[in-house]
Amino acid sequence: MSIQGGCLCGKIRYAVNGDLYDISHCHCSMCRRQHGAAFATYADFDPGDFAWTSGETLAKIYETSSREGWCFCSECGSTLAGTSQGIVTSITLGSVDGDPGIRPESHIFAGSKAPWHEISDDLPRFDQWPPETWKPASKGN
Ligand SMILES: [Zn+2]
Ligand SMILES: [Zn+2]
Repeated sequence: MSIQGGCLCGKIRYAVNGDLYDISHCHCSMCRRQHGAAFATYADFDPGDFAWTSGETLAKIYETSSREGWCFCSECGSTLAGTSQGIVTSITLGSVDGDPGIRPESHIFAGSKAPWHEISDDLPRFDQWPPETWKPASKGN
């Protein structure tokens, strides 16, 4: 399966040539501030499945001291991906075109969610990262 996505101004486009899995809503204070939203939604993929298809030179990365961060369009500001040590490790589900097929499976860092936001679904909630033993259904067994 191939997933396409891109930023608001349309200059940056990407493709994930494989399946997305482990879609999580992250409620940590850094994601909230970076997105300007109640939470951020990310999807993982197998290494090597991600490729920029246009506008890569406009993509800017900001990482915190832990070398985890985000990749966004330097023209329109859309956050397209999560990064680790300068490498794209997840995409933001909000930047995906159309219906990616799979659905969110967890809330992470729910322990630091915005006080003004109530989580109102029944997905598993983890105060921080999920425990190593937890495997989302999308990852198979
Ligand atoms: Zn843009
Ligand atoms: Zn986060």
